[in-house]
Amino acid sequence: MDCVFCGIINGEIPSNKVYEDDLVLAFRDINPEAPVHILVVPKTHVSSCDSIDADNSFLISKIFEMIPQIAKKEGLSNGYRVITNVGEDGGQSVKHLHFHILGGKKLPVHLC
Ligand code: AMP
Ligand code: ZN
Repeated sequence: MDCVFCGIINGEIPSNKVYEDDLVLAFRDINPEAPVHILVVPKTHVSSCDSIDADNSFLISKIFEMIPQIAKKEGLSNGYRVITNVGEDGGQSVKHLHFHILGGKKLPVHLC
């Protein structure tokens, strides 16, 4: 499968890692849109939010357990944003489920 995030997870593609355990990897976005821009991904390939089901939702729990810890370590005490894009209309460019953590400045308030 030609998946850039699977390539990062298996070490074929370099990344700037900020957190890793057996289920989850977090690394800095290569094209940051905020002073802190981190992507959190499950280590197993899940295409998007649209493919979450009863068999893989434990990965989402784990990711959302780690997000506050990553945010704290990055100094995001004044808040941050968590985003996941889904499919073509959602603007998803990498088809491996990922959650953006954005922070380090006051982010613009708009939904679309
Ligand atoms: P999305 O548009 O929600 O699919 O977000 C994909 C994100 O992955 C974008 O913000 C890209 O900058 C980021 N990205 C793509 N390739 C890499 C890479 N090799 N390392 C780190 N981030 C990447
Ligand atoms: Zn993948």
